[in-house]
Amino acid sequence: MAAWIHGKVVDHKRWNEKLHTLYIDAAIEPHQAGQFVKIGLEIDGEIIGRPYSLLNPPRHTPLEIYYIHVPQGQLTPRLIQLEAGDDILVSPRANGFMVLDEIPQAKHLWFMATGTGVGPFLAILDEGKLWARFERVVLVYAVRTLSELSYQERIAALAAANPERFAFVPFISRETWPFAQPGRIPQAIENGSLEMAAGTPIRAEDSHFVLCGNPAMVEDVTQCLIGRGFKKHRRRDPGHITTESYW
Ligand SMILES: Cc1cc2nc3c(=O)[nH]c(=O)nc-3n(C[C@H](O)[C@H](O)[C@H](O)COP(=O)(O)OP(=O)(O)OC[C@H]3O[C@@H](n4cnc5c(N)ncnc54)[C@H](O)[C@@H]3O)c2cc1C
Repeated sequence: MAAWIHGKVVDHKRWNEKLHTLYIDAAIEPHQAGQFVKIGLEIDGEIIGRPYSLLNPPRHTPLEIYYIHVPQGQLTPRLIQLEAGDDILVSPRANGFMVLDEIPQAKHLWFMATGTGVGPFLAILDEGKLWARFERVVLVYAVRTLSELSYQERIAALAAANPERFAFVPFISRETWPFAQPGRIPQAIENGSLEMAAGTPIRAEDSHFVLCGNPAMVEDVTQCLIGRGFKKHRRRDPGHITTESYW
């Protein structure tokens, strides 16, 4: 199989100077919600490719990726320059195990994201298959400032469609907002404020956690949950914590 297929940028949304969403027309193979593709550009005669989660549910087009500009990075300083009509390379097949089929049965499903890590959860939530398997779903979304809390309309629509079964708990660490939790997620697990805000108990016997984004958050929350009797999930050794670190 070819390493890359050719795609076209169809739109480029700028949320603020750092956060962007690219919409891409590319005929990739059918994917599962929660998976990522590789996006590539030819830079100085070499193709530079990086993985990005898909926000569009399966069979929805165009492809949608939500990314942050890393000024010292190789690819994203070039991604931010793209406009509708520009060429872009996309891996023909999506990958990744952060998909519903890999998540064991539980009563409560917790999605926890920092920043752009919210993307795969939005794809899974919008696809909607999870409601047949989980009684209650909590989306925890941690950012530094309100201007970084992208996709609020999409999340509000999910909450309106599932008022009894969906809880949204934003964390904003560098500003104070009455609707958001202050501080860090592990502290809020330890002092009980997250369970209170989510209206959902954190118990290993009926919960599964999926963590995505900043590796420090993924590690800290994993350790905190292990301290409460949770276990990392592996295909051959089922547990309660599934993770995807972005770097
Ligand atoms: C499975 C997977 C899925 C990913 N999905 C996304 C996604 O949906 N959106 C996205 O923005 N990134 C995502 N990433 C990260 C992405 O692949 C690139 O690493 C990132 O865009 C930086 O690329 P770059 O070439 O500009 O920087 P590089 O030269 O690769 O520099 C990498 C450095 O950038 C920083 N960095 C990387 N990603 C982030 C991030 N998301 N937030 C803050 N700092 C970061 C880290 O300090 C890292 O060491 C994903 C990574 C993995 C492994």
